Amino acid sequence: MITGKMMHQQLTVGSIITHAGKFHGDTEIASVETSGGVRRSTWKGVEQNARRLASALSKLGIEEGDRCATIAWNNIRHLEIYFGVSSGGMVCHTINPRLHPEQLAYIINHAQDRVLFLDKTFLPVAAMLGSKLESVKAVVLMGPRDEEAAAAVPGLVFYDELLETGDPDFDWPEIDENSPASLCYTSGTTGYPKGVQYTHRSIMLHALAGNNPDGMNLSARDCVMPVVPMFHVSAWGVPYIAAIMGSKLVLPGPGMDGASLVDLIDGEKVSISLGVPTIWLGLLAELKKRGTHAPTMRRTIVGGSAMPPSMFAEFRDAHGIELIHAWGMTETSPLGTLNQPKTKHADLSPEDMSALRLGQGRPPMGVDLRIVDEEGKPLPHDGETQGELHIRGHWIVDTYFGQDEPALTDDGWFDTGDVATIDPDGYMVIRDRSKDIIKSGGEWISTVELENIAIGHPAIANAAVIAARHAKWDERPVLIAVKAGEVSEGELIEWYDGKIAKWQTPDLVIFVDELPLGATGKVLKNKLREVHGDCLMG
Ligand code: AMP
Repeated sequence: MITGKMMHQQLTVGSIITHAGKFHGDTEIASVETSGGVRRSTWKGVEQNARRLASALSKLGIEEGDRCATIAWNNIRHLEIYFGVSSGGMVCHTINPRLHPEQLAYIINHAQDRVLFLDKTFLPVAAMLGSKLESVKAVVLMGPRDEEAAAAVPGLVFYDELLETGDPDFDWPEIDENSPASLCYTSGTTGYPKGVQYTHRSIMLHALAGNNPDGMNLSARDCVMPVVPMFHVSAWGVPYIAAIMGSKLVLPGPGMDGASLVDLIDGEKVSISLGVPTIWLGLLAELKKRGTHAPTMRRTIVGGSAMPPSMFAEFRDAHGIELIHAWGMTETSPLGTLNQPKTKHADLSPEDMSALRLGQGRPPMGVDLRIVDEEGKPLPHDGETQGELHIRGHWIVDTYFGQDEPALTDDGWFDTGDVATIDPDGYMVIRDRSKDIIKSGGEWISTVELENIAIGHPAIANAAVIAARHAKWDERPVLIAVKAGEVSEGELIEWYDGKIAKWQTPDLVIFVDELPLGATGKVLKNKLREVHGDCLMG
């Protein structure tokens, strides 16, 4: 018999932070405190505090598998909780603070959270939810002792004091890589939010594959600033990836306006940053105002919702910063695709390159994509045929938290609810959400396309297109727009001439002061439909 085999080690979050502490121990973490000012630590400091926290939580009676919730900004304590809770065998449940209090209470009770960690900003939420929280054993304020806070919330625990009860040399428990490490609920624009529980293994594979050179490509020479929140989909995995690579990490705290971000980028020498398009609009406006270029920035990664077509070229041409467009969702951990060109694209003109890179990109090894028709029949990857986007892979949801039945098609794919094309090179372009797409006389009209055209008008600050009910055509497009200057409805409708088929032009323009935004900064189209859905019905 021929013997010989390789070691088998569990892929765990604990092994990530152990590596960061051991091999990148003095690499810096800079964190903007909720109370202002920058707090500095290192990967070694994060590792030790994570161990302290896990041991302190076990002394509090929190057991393996228990959910510990956070409602917090991107900051160092949140990072320590990410690693301490998961490495200690518990589940780090990040909660989006912008949700409605009813939804917050629903989520905390649904997850049966035992501990609730809060930044001071969100203390009023705890005071308000108080008696509605069925399972929470300890509410922990993420900071030092604060007498005012102690008086407002009876029994409040203070994070910095809790850490003092813990052991910096605490050994991580043996953990099966398939056990849960973290939990995040979907944004829930329709119906109740659903929980997606990531495992140690899915987090590790997502981080390793998502950081390939055609993906995030972070290294030990980078200084990375995730502006994308740690309270939603693990800040796209950046905390784990930065620890694996030993990158310097800059955590921006509550200030996500353009001016605060430019100050941090220049002050900390940030080389890579990640965020949703709205954040980058603010940053670009600030750079323009100051006449500066964020000279240390090399790359920015943009995703979470459709980005304005001008954004890629503006970063590249005005500031020499490469923009990487990415797509994903809560159910996909979130990285599903990232957009980098191939060798065959090297000679593309700047315009053609911009066009290629405005799409959502290709999947890294580890996830697979397909598009299907309404009967679930696979459609060709020809770059033109639109279909429902399906995904499967190592870090894609199988069954939602607390549900018995998998959320998959009979043949094992997850239906994203997005409508997309995929070209022969594997580049995917999101055309719409299937619930947003307009079906006019049986033909599909992409709201994203109509919105991009409207936003391209110099007098339009923001725009959303909805499907309004129509007696003859079932649905017709209506444009809801926020002005940045003077423009009439007629001028805006004319703006579509030659840019799109005549029958796809919006029937009506409604000007508003602002668009309703959801908890993750996305336009709430269902709200707009509720208000304006019948505007064409006479
Ligand atoms: P969430 O689960 O809240 O992260 O939302 C996921 C949804 O956001 C996806 O299904 C898409 O509809 C949308 N989305 C995410 N990234 C992009 C992108 N780069 N372009 C267009 N839509 C996006």
